[in-house]
Amino acid sequence: MGYEAFPEPLWAEIDLCALRHNFSAVRSHVGKGVRIMAVVKADAYGHGAVAVAHELLRQGADAFGVARLDEAVELRENGITQPVLIFGPTPPQKAPLLARYGIIQTVHSDTYAEALQAALLAQQPRRRVQVHIKVDTGMGRLGYIATGNGGDVPLGQVFAGFSSRTMLDVCGVFTHFAASDAADPVTARRQLAVFEQALSELPAGMRDRLCVHAANSAATMVMPGARFDMVRPGIILYGLRPSAEMDTAGFDLRPVMSLKGRIASVKRVPAGFTVSYGHTHVTAAGTVIAAVPAGYADGYSRLLSSCGTMLVHGRPAAVTGRVCMDQTMIDVGHIDGVQEGDEVVLLGRQGAESVTADDHARLTSTINYEVVSRILARVPRVYVENAE
Ligand SMILES: *Cc1c(COP(=O)(O)O)cnc(C)c1O
Repeated sequence: MGYEAFPEPLWAEIDLCALRHNFSAVRSHVGKGVRIMAVVKADAYGHGAVAVAHELLRQGADAFGVARLDEAVELRENGITQPVLIFGPTPPQKAPLLARYGIIQTVHSDTYAEALQAALLAQQPRRRVQVHIKVDTGMGRLGYIATGNGGDVPLGQVFAGFSSRTMLDVCGVFTHFAASDAADPVTARRQLAVFEQALSELPAGMRDRLCVHAANSAATMVMPGARFDMVRPGIILYGLRPSAEMDTAGFDLRPVMSLKGRIASVKRVPAGFTVSYGHTHVTAAGTVIAAVPAGYADGYSRLLSSCGTMLVHGRPAAVTGRVCMDQTMIDVGHIDGVQEGDEVVLLGRQGAESVTADDHARLTSTINYEVVSRILARVPRVYVENAE
């Protein structure tokens, strides 16, 4: 293998076959009667939002969820016409963009609702914006506090406040679980009960006109009662488990992202040879050290210094010394014939071996969500079809 095979030092391979597989696992799990809002915030957890959204549309995704206005606009500018919901607050002065692009905005408080209303009223021509109301049932983040969670305003009264906000068209209501990925999701069941009570506070008939939703990936998998009209899976679409505690048996997920590079340099070195910043690694015996063009500025965490593993020729090779901004060294002394330009796998499979996002998460004290979404923009995404 040489440079000609793929002319980038480092790239993230996104397996569309695995993405389709994970989506259809969700679809067959929830059935046809429940809409699927594919969560593609943070550039689809590092997988590339536009490509992922187009692929999932072809598979029957009904809507998309993002965190920020710019993420929603990117989808619209790239031909996605399905409903897009922004979970986080859009600055009111940018509210006209919501109207122009037909994007649904989450409203989490009366203060925010008033600011949106005022910003839209000031605009000519006047255009209304669709909103979903966020209810805090125990996440303690955004949303109107539900009565069952210590709030003192029944949901019906919250909704009544919107009758004078003529520029806001309330078409949905939702909540978010804090711990649906626990081994036993007791608190999520409590949140669900709190949400159902809040829904019961709505005037008769109103609930039927709203899109009601609650389930993230974990709840989509294990809480059928939390599906309502629509589910909002994110991490499972990318083939990763919502948490290590969860029993995911019966749910076949395939990781979508691999991180691969080409070895930049190979050198035979003597014993006592110092490697990388701080000289934290000194070779005990003669060996072969390879430099890999990936560093913490690519999202390869510096916490993997002297403890990460990469794969070369289908065999594990240990990270030696500190991860630099753009380079990382590995010891390949035990692997025959390693040459500059050879493929190295930082995340994913090579032969019988694999390095998973969960492995990186464990070594860097975080969760697999962060491992994939911290792979930064300078790493090109390459879309492939690896049928199994
Ligand atoms: C991120 C997010 C999701 C998706 O969560 P996963 O655990 O990745 O499935 C769903 N809903 C909201 C509001 C979110 O912020």
